[in-house]
Amino acid sequence: MNWIIDRFDDIRILRYEVPGFETLTLEEKELIYYLNEAALCGRDIIYDQNGRYNLAVRRTLEAIYENAEADKETVQWAAFVKYLKKVWFANGIHHHYSNDKFVPEFSREYFDSLLGVTPAGSFPDDFGSHRELVSLVKGIIFDKDKMPKRVNQTEGVDMLKTSAMNYYEGVTQAEAEQYYGAMADPADSTPVSYGLNSKLTKTVGGRLVEKKWRVGGMYTQAIERIVGWLEKAAQVANPTQKAIIEALISYYKTGDLKEFDRYSIMWVNDIESRVDFVNGFIEVYGDPLGYKASWESLVNFRNEKATKRTRIISENAQWFEDHSPVDSMYKKPEVKGVSAKVITAAILAGDCYPATPIGINLPNSDWIRKEYGSKSVTIENITDAYEAAARGDGFREEFVLRPEDRKRMDRYGSLADNLHTDLHECLGHGSGQLAPGTKGDELKNYGSVLEETRADLFALYYIADPKMVELDLIPSMDAAWAEYSRYVMNGMMTQLARVKLGKDVEQAHMRNRKLISEWCYEHGKADNVIEKRVADGKTYIVVNDFEKLRKLFGELLREVQRIKSEGDYEAGKALVETYGIKVDQKLHAEVLERYAGLNIEPYSGFVNPKYSPVMENGKIIDIKISYEADYTEQMLEYSHHYSFLPTKN
Ligand code: ZN
Repeated sequence: MNWIIDRFDDIRILRYEVPGFETLTLEEKELIYYLNEAALCGRDIIYDQNGRYNLAVRRTLEAIYENAEADKETVQWAAFVKYLKKVWFANGIHHHYSNDKFVPEFSREYFDSLLGVTPAGSFPDDFGSHRELVSLVKGIIFDKDKMPKRVNQTEGVDMLKTSAMNYYEGVTQAEAEQYYGAMADPADSTPVSYGLNSKLTKTVGGRLVEKKWRVGGMYTQAIERIVGWLEKAAQVANPTQKAIIEALISYYKTGDLKEFDRYSIMWVNDIESRVDFVNGFIEVYGDPLGYKASWESLVNFRNEKATKRTRIISENAQWFEDHSPVDSMYKKPEVKGVSAKVITAAILAGDCYPATPIGINLPNSDWIRKEYGSKSVTIENITDAYEAAARGDGFREEFVLRPEDRKRMDRYGSLADNLHTDLHECLGHGSGQLAPGTKGDELKNYGSVLEETRADLFALYYIADPKMVELDLIPSMDAAWAEYSRYVMNGMMTQLARVKLGKDVEQAHMRNRKLISEWCYEHGKADNVIEKRVADGKTYIVVNDFEKLRKLFGELLREVQRIKSEGDYEAGKALVETYGIKVDQKLHAEVLERYAGLNIEPYSGFVNPKYSPVMENGKIIDIKISYEADYTEQMLEYSHHYSFLPTKN
């Protein structure tokens, strides 16, 4: 099987398998099929959320791609196609990870010539005149000062004014913070996730109003389709799941965040159903203020065999909580319902496509997690695809100095990686509690980074606990040391391959990995715990003392949990600003050069398999799965069949 099906710029497109799909019952397959359709119907939403002209840009580029009578053998055409592939990958005009706007490698004149050879009737006609559309799109693509960044979290500037995301319009950061600050009632122990499912704008009179994303509201054209497929899904679901889907439908229809909480509680309680799904406005990374959620969907079913591993972890969740280095005030006295499983993804959509997480822990609401627990998943058919695509690409030979480290990584890398994800999702995010009076949004723009830091530290601390061997989760400490070496090498060095020279680290997960690694480097300096070693003119990161490194992870975990529990903004800010952002330029240049020599694209994403119902006498008798998808073909197919929003929303 060929795992890599397309490569462009800094991206490789992989495909993933869905092993075990054939073993599902007809009802389960049918349920997956309907949920998949519901997932694909939301694709336009994430484009519009990422930037309010993204749909205009995508549709204009697609019109040219499909209809221009242009010479397709030129360098400029290739540059045009590359730009379009990047827009598809990022669900918009900004890089999915760095948040920077793409720079076209074709000229404005060339773009004009393409517009001239594309029939006018093929462009979107719901944006105003053709002239307006074209001039707007050109400005967006070529004017580098226009919408340069999707999410800007630089301290001291108005983060809303300087971010191109489409969650606010005409609203200053101070106004938005005041608006949601006033909404939060400190006495309310079960607050809804204020602002989660709406765009905040102003009326003509200057009053702040939320445009809700619901049936009859903003994005209704897509949400109605989603609801239509969910209704079909409800008919083939088991009774528990039927009620869950109906609660979700009710939320989509009303936009009532209390309904979302009701749905989330039912969803988190359902640990029996083999098929499961996420569908909605879930993660808040795309909003610099962390209120508004991007739309995403993931449909999946449990990998029964691999789930034995996570079951052991969740059954021991209380033990881990009790023995963590965190201050006892900030530990959960009673860890509730941490359910963990390994899943097989059947479809990725919205903000999970084509780039996707490898683990998810939901719901995000703090009080629901505390009262009802959380559901945590490791998506193993995705990590398997990564691993298969990376085999023999020369990365370890280039960046890992000591043969013993390389050997450990070759042997245990995959196991340690999956286990890290299990621990991060299942225990890390689920652990700890807030101090009385802390609301949970005090850390503001540093909240996402510090939350990831906390979860990673929990995983790093425990992966090297003797309990891991005792529970038979790892065969020996070598698996943990493989993870330690890999983690700090990545955090201090190799992840910089994903950042452009001269730029800071922006993305929350990257900042967290850098923060942890650099903090431990700094605080372990006296004992030479982590060393930057130079050999043959190349820099390597070497861990000299694994046990001491574990202690450092524990110390930092204690402090980060305190920061979260107390909502200590200043301390959180200091940690992130000191260790998580600024890059050593010389080392950065070296990493980029060595990486370029390997020819490995630093980012990957996926195409989905295709599902088609087999009909007999008007009834579905089976669902067939096929993997023949091509990246461009799939993107165009989705644009043709699952595009429901107007170009201007
Ligand atoms: Zn996480």
